[in-house]
Amino acid sequence: MSYSRVGVVTGANKGIGLAVVRQLALQYPKSPLNTGPFLIYLTARDKAKGESALKELHKDEQLKQAKALVSDGGLSEIRYHTLDITDSTSVEAFAIYLKMNHGDGVDIVINNAGIAMDGFDSNIVKSTLGCNFYKTMEACHAFLPLIKLDGRLVNVASTSGKLNKYSNEIRNRFLASKTEEDVTSIMKDFALAVDAGKENEAGFPSAAYAVSKAGLIASTRALAHAEKEKGNTVLINSCCPGYVNTDMSKGNGTKTPDEGAQTPVMLALRDLKGESGIFWKEETHEEW
Ligand code: NDP
Repeated sequence: MSYSRVGVVTGANKGIGLAVVRQLALQYPKSPLNTGPFLIYLTARDKAKGESALKELHKDEQLKQAKALVSDGGLSEIRYHTLDITDSTSVEAFAIYLKMNHGDGVDIVINNAGIAMDGFDSNIVKSTLGCNFYKTMEACHAFLPLIKLDGRLVNVASTSGKLNKYSNEIRNRFLASKTEEDVTSIMKDFALAVDAGKENEAGFPSAAYAVSKAGLIASTRALAHAEKEKGNTVLINSCCPGYVNTDMSKGNGTKTPDEGAQTPVMLALRDLKGESGIFWKEETHEEW
């Protein structure tokens, strides 16, 4: 079977990522991007967890009732592929696989994988910035050349990445950051300040996750502007899914994963009227 559209979701074995895969399959038929069969890659770092999530989707009543999947006569097929975003070899291998198997390119990449660790110290900062900022942006660069000109790149950030918890100086540096290098230099200064035990004096909160997501919002914005200047028409946006009931929120979230999936899926499937480089929440622009 040949596919008209191809999508990729990272960290999709559970939580919001898994719901994003379901919602892509459910919402694709009514999307302006619907030009025929849609192949969605449910990716996960753990093969057993990814394959078990895929099995779950094949038993999913809502998908069955909507006849969303090709196996029920629908348009979408979901496949598992291994992808650990913190492992450069894994990212490169998947990019090569996509290039070899989808020569025309990929339509949608949703970078959803992320971590939130308890506590605060230099190691936690390194791991959290590593996964949520550095490696997520590395995945953007690995996959962006494969995305078709009418395609979408969506980074799942968070409102905890808002700029209301920084000194004016750091806040202004975030706002003035035009390039990914500018943002990386803020992330480096944060890590150095944490090593010295002086992040508050340096204008940062003692919060690894929040800073990693601020960096992701800033870098997504910088990447979108740089790509636009090069004439690339891929729409590149970041978003917050809301406070969602998942393992990450330890069951305290107020939204279901399906509700949390709405904004990332909207950014992937709806007519965005060319908007790129924006931070979104509740399917609308969100102040950063
Ligand atoms: P979960 O902890 O439930 O799921 C996170 C997913 O990311 C898991 O599938 C996990 O895989 C995967 N993951 C983590 N590290 C990697 C990696 N190196 N490579 C590939 N996959 C990885 O979290 P949520 O579903 O709640 O969060 C999804 C996204 O939404 C995150 O980016 C999060 O920051 C963001 N978000 C969540 C909010 C919430 O209220 N839940 C609020 C705002 C933002 P594994 O199972 O193997 O650990």
